[in-house]
Amino acid sequence: MRIILLGPPGVGKGTQAQFLIDRLGAVQVSTGDLLRAAVREGTELGRKAKGFMDAGDLVPDDVILGMIREKMGELGDTPVIFDGFPRTVAQAEGLDELMNGLGLGIDKVVELVVDDQVVIDRLSARRSCPKCGAVFNLMFNPPKVEDVCDSCGHKGLIQRDDDKPEVIANRLKVYHDQTAPVANHYDAQGNLAKVPGAGTVEEVKNGVQSALGR
Ligand code: AMP
Repeated sequence: MRIILLGPPGVGKGTQAQFLIDRLGAVQVSTGDLLRAAVREGTELGRKAKGFMDAGDLVPDDVILGMIREKMGELGDTPVIFDGFPRTVAQAEGLDELMNGLGLGIDKVVELVVDDQVVIDRLSARRSCPKCGAVFNLMFNPPKVEDVCDSCGHKGLIQRDDDKPEVIANRLKVYHDQTAPVANHYDAQGNLAKVPGAGTVEEVKNGVQSALGR
């Protein structure tokens, strides 16, 4: 089982991916998380990616596809939830090719759809733990104790540099210009489902579940 979650930054792809992981015993492949880990570890990949990420621009397709190829080689036929990938039509085509080569396919593509203003509000309120990576939202999912991570107890939650207002505007532009056409790519293949992403976490979860027919 391989599922792609599409949608603008901050729409809740990571949260929904987590539900699917728990239910399907799947592994999440988030290119954003892989890139942030590479930046933290100071690898060559991280050094290449950092400038693009800080500006809210996309990391070049060949870098991303190389990372995915390596990851898919490790995972074999383990169920996978792709989160934040593919972000361009070229990446979607590269994934098609990779899947064909491995004799695998994509079962379903779920696009979470919201207005830009919802994205801006959610990203502005997102905070994360610099120690364990847990993600909170000051509006919808605040930590139990202000500024303290529920998961590891670290004090001092941070805002991602690319969740700052000037970068959010560019990320939305990049999304509309380069990522929105990816939905058409999968629509043409007949496996796209659109789910409203503006409701509560539970409402979106139910929408995703019915899109997957289970
Ligand atoms: P995310 O956490 O998915 O919002 O990703 C954070 C940043 O990582 C993006 O703004 C891009 O700079 C980069 N990134 C993540 N996934 C991709 C991808 N599939 N293609 C290109 N750049 C990506």
